[in-house]
Amino acid sequence: MMKQSVIALVAHDAKKQNLVEWVRYNEGTLREHKLYATRSTGLEIKKSTGLEVNLLLSGPHGGDAQIGALIAEGNIDILIFLWDPLTPQPHDVDVKTLLRLAVLHNIPMACNRATADFLISSPMFKQ
Ligand code: PGA
Repeated sequence: MMKQSVIALVAHDAKKQNLVEWVRYNEGTLREHKLYATRSTGLEIKKSTGLEVNLLLSGPHGGDAQIGALIAEGNIDILIFLWDPLTPQPHDVDVKTLLRLAVLHNIPMACNRATADFLISSPMFKQ
């Protein structure tokens, strides 16, 4: 039987459509896993798919920090984080913290759609 992974999904505003399209494309696979998302990202995903998503706070209000804490506690297996390289973010320190904690704890992390495609199609995704 396939192991259920815990996947965190975050997208900055300019990248939300991109992430929603990726989630829709991979809905069948993602359905088998437990999903967390920052609030606005999660609401967009719920609106466009039939997926269950555990909503955290909005990113600028602590959602990125919540995901970072979940990673530090060993509760996230995979992070899909489509951050926006062209727009300054008010919560830039939280963004950096999340990226740092994902690297520190050796979490497979995709920051663009091409890498997200590699991750989800890897045989290791299910392990
Ligand atoms: P949001 O947060 O999903 O609540 O927009 C994402 C972010 O800005 O990190």
